[in-house]
Amino acid sequence: MPKILTILRHPNPVLKRKCVPVPVRYEQKLPTDPVDFVDKDQIKELADDMIHTMFIMGGVGLSAPQIGQSLRMFVCSHDGDQRNALVFINPTILDQSNPIDTEEGCLSLPDVRVNMRRSSYVKIHAYRPDGSAFEMSEAGFRPVIWQHEIDHLDGRLIVDQMSEADKIRNRHTLNLLLGKRRSNRRTIRNPKKVAS
Ligand SMILES: [Zn+2]
Repeated sequence: MPKILTILRHPNPVLKRKCVPVPVRYEQKLPTDPVDFVDKDQIKELADDMIHTMFIMGGVGLSAPQIGQSLRMFVCSHDGDQRNALVFINPTILDQSNPIDTEEGCLSLPDVRVNMRRSSYVKIHAYRPDGSAFEMSEAGFRPVIWQHEIDHLDGRLIVDQMSEADKIRNRHTLNLLLGKRRSNRRTIRNPKKVAS
């Protein structure tokens, strides 16, 4: 039975780290050849737990650093059906084009919405948990999820790319996440108020 993993929230420092590739025992000769992951049983279990967690939390994508693993892998829901969720290990974007404006949220930043510019067409190469290689080309919403998750693997969050308007729009929510709500601090500093 897959586990529900704890999702790290901004400003946890793990979210700012650049992730390392999932280690392989034998490198492939051709990009289409399978690889042999060192810890393939753990990788398969981690992928299943991440898919389960993503669906329980109502997300469309979840990256390994968000659950505290600095590894280059993410999972993605393509059609809302848990059985069809995809796992991308050591992903590489081979081609991208057709920029569009998106509005994105993130499970590590509850209630924050940020306007982003993404490619609406992406060709991606990655590995499945069994080590088999695959390539996908997609246009529309799915490539936007892939780019959001790959940003996580590079330690980049949507709050790192906010416009001035987005900073103002999300200021209250971000202050709560960062523990900067002044009224709380005043209450703690004034014992009389706490008692009353
Ligand atoms: Zn995210």
